[in-house]
Amino acid sequence: MRTIPHWIAGSETTGASTRYGPVWNPATGEQQAQVALAEPADVDAAVAAASKAWQEWRDVSVIRRARIMFALRDLIERHLDELSVLIADEHGKVVSDAKGEVIRGLEVVEYACGIPTLLKGEFSEQVSTDVDAYSFRQPLGVCAGITPFNFPAMVPMWMHPIAIAAGNTFILKPSERDPSASNFFARLYADAGLPEGVFNVVHGDKVAVDAILDHPGIAAVSFVGSTPIARYVHQRASETGKRVQALGGAKNHAVVLPDADMEFAANHITAAGYGSAGQRCMAISAVVAVGDAGDALIAKLRQKAEEVNVGPGRDAASEMGPVVTPEARDRITGYVGRGEQAGATLVVDGRGLTVKDHENGFFVGPTLFDRVSTDMDIYTDEIFGPVLVVLRTDSFDEAIDIINANPYGNGTAIFTSSGQAARKFQRHVQVGMIGINVPIPVPMAFYSFGGWKDSLFGDTHVHGPEGIRFYTRAKAITSRWPDNQYQEHHRSHMHFPTAT
Ligand code: NAD
Repeated sequence: MRTIPHWIAGSETTGASTRYGPVWNPATGEQQAQVALAEPADVDAAVAAASKAWQEWRDVSVIRRARIMFALRDLIERHLDELSVLIADEHGKVVSDAKGEVIRGLEVVEYACGIPTLLKGEFSEQVSTDVDAYSFRQPLGVCAGITPFNFPAMVPMWMHPIAIAAGNTFILKPSERDPSASNFFARLYADAGLPEGVFNVVHGDKVAVDAILDHPGIAAVSFVGSTPIARYVHQRASETGKRVQALGGAKNHAVVLPDADMEFAANHITAAGYGSAGQRCMAISAVVAVGDAGDALIAKLRQKAEEVNVGPGRDAASEMGPVVTPEARDRITGYVGRGEQAGATLVVDGRGLTVKDHENGFFVGPTLFDRVSTDMDIYTDEIFGPVLVVLRTDSFDEAIDIINANPYGNGTAIFTSSGQAARKFQRHVQVGMIGINVPIPVPMAFYSFGGWKDSLFGDTHVHGPEGIRFYTRAKAITSRWPDNQYQEHHRSHMHFPTAT
């Protein structure tokens, strides 16, 4: 069995690990590798390597740091196909979708290439007589990222390019379910000229996560994953004085108004609901059909769900692959059964789907429920699979109330031809990222990504300007260079200093 090791201080190692986790090929149902699961001693080794590397990395000029990002950018582009297949084989998503996630991550590297501009400070001349004031931002030290399975390249890329370009060193603890993309990045960074120990990968489970959260040598933790773990990470890492941003789960609603182009809305909701088998934090998982929109929309969603081509990620004809593990498949099909029992109308049933020559793969077909109510667990819970639930309301206001009553607040979308309705929606809906006739409104790298409510614990969103703020802290300087020619420079007062 192939073993996937950690990457510490510039080389592969299984360190102190004695436990291993399975890495599946979700399309075939076979275990293809095992990943080393870190013990606290492995986290100690990574922190020691990252702390040592920081002593020099913090002094490397911002131009040289930017050049390494430019080199990384080119290497990622050159290895795009290879990386995408690696992701598809471990995650299950189709190769074109994997490519999409790498390209969206690449945009963050491109943003980080602008670090000389992004770190420019402020300067105010003559704030008091012959006194100047200025500020600049400095890196924090060793930063850690703990990431989910569903975007094994993109989500870590929300973090490490910015942290490293800003002058920090980094320890990545990726999902143990699809770990290989992280080791691939470690090699790309080395090829780009990044010094040893600046980027480290520690694989593992709760043992590794807890060791990171408690480690006094780590200054900041970025987490992306499910809400219960995000809440836990935020609390535990805060207790040891770390800066924390912890992004959680989601239940993203699409509101469809009767004036929407129904064909356009149904096409985009189908892609956003079933793409990556619904395993996206920005997937549309709940649709709120307002007034007359309901019947027309359901008819189209049904037809399109039945037309989705489900198959292995490597097959170019596949539009949707399997889900990540057998446990995920069983959890999702369990929800479908409970939705039926709760009285929702099962319009398309994806259970029991088999894919020719891939009978042992973890496949669940697109599933569509109509007439779902807000008390059913297919609505209240994040299913994280290809299950779309449709709720019906009489009014637009009720649709907004439903979204605002939901504890999650990651993304949402509205389909309408009314600018007035769209503006009302963007103003009143309590969600961090909003799409107007755009179903998956993931902000570009030069804006910041983050949800509200139980979708994010902490103050700053990831990448973009908030990412720069998260990975740096400010210094404000007040400066005077006394000149013996002027008596006034030597006069001091016992009262609190004010500008003169
Ligand atoms: P997860 O919460 O199970 O795992 C995330 C990370 O936490 C992994 O690295 C995992 O090893 C670790 N972990 C798991 N259980 C732990 C525990 N008990 N203690 C400490 N660490 C633990 O999430 P997942 O299943 O890998 O990913 C799917 C979830 O991530 C969904 O809820 C999805 O919405 C969310 N997600 C959110 C965003 C966002 O931007 N808000 C983006 C992607 C994914």
